[in-house]
Amino acid sequence: MAKQLQGASGLAGDGSDHLALECPYCGVYANMTPLAVPSPERIAETTPKYVGLVYQCDACRAPVFLRFAVKEIAGDRIELNRNFLELERPKERFPFSYLPKDTEVLFREALSCYAGNNFNAFASMCRRSAATAFDALGDGGKLRAFEEVMVAQDIAGIDDETFAPIKAVLFESAGEEDLPLMNRGQAGILLEILKDLFYQCFVRRGKLNRALKVRRFFVEESAANLADSA
Ligand SMILES: [Zn+2]
Repeated sequence: MAKQLQGASGLAGDGSDHLALECPYCGVYANMTPLAVPSPERIAETTPKYVGLVYQCDACRAPVFLRFAVKEIAGDRIELNRNFLELERPKERFPFSYLPKDTEVLFREALSCYAGNNFNAFASMCRRSAATAFDALGDGGKLRAFEEVMVAQDIAGIDDETFAPIKAVLFESAGEEDLPLMNRGQAGILLEILKDLFYQCFVRRGKLNRALKVRRFFVEESAANLADSA
């Protein structure tokens, strides 16, 4: 159901004031309570295409800014499009320290494009991040990465048509001007696929090596202690 603004109280209609989102501040999927709502009279007078509403996160009390398209103005009853744009998106988390230095720098920028809803800038940065990762993997790195991505497509059950632009961004060697245009849905898939790829290629290996090093250290320690006490 579309959102409606009406009268002095602002939001009206069934469930119009109910909203749950992942909070960009605390990361909790929380209920959002309307905090500042534009007046219907003012909207009717100025007929803007978009309006901004401020909600408050019920979990951490931070303000959350949303932009809605105005669908219809009928007197003082304003109907807003159900879909909205989050002006601040939750930050994507990733164990960056396991990535090669260049990949880390570029992938951080990729994620900040994504958080800013700049999905085509995000795609360009994904290609650059992936290219440095293939280099870091050495001979046959790109092929290995391609195989990992194919496995991910299979696990996630994504059809070939949906997956084609993701593959084009990561693996096609044509120039940046030939990158496919990305919408929010495709960018979301690209994000998860690239995170999975980096996890498989760098994070998994790094974590395993680190864990084994710790195990070896304790084995050597206890062997040394035994020798001391003998
Ligand atoms: Zn919050």
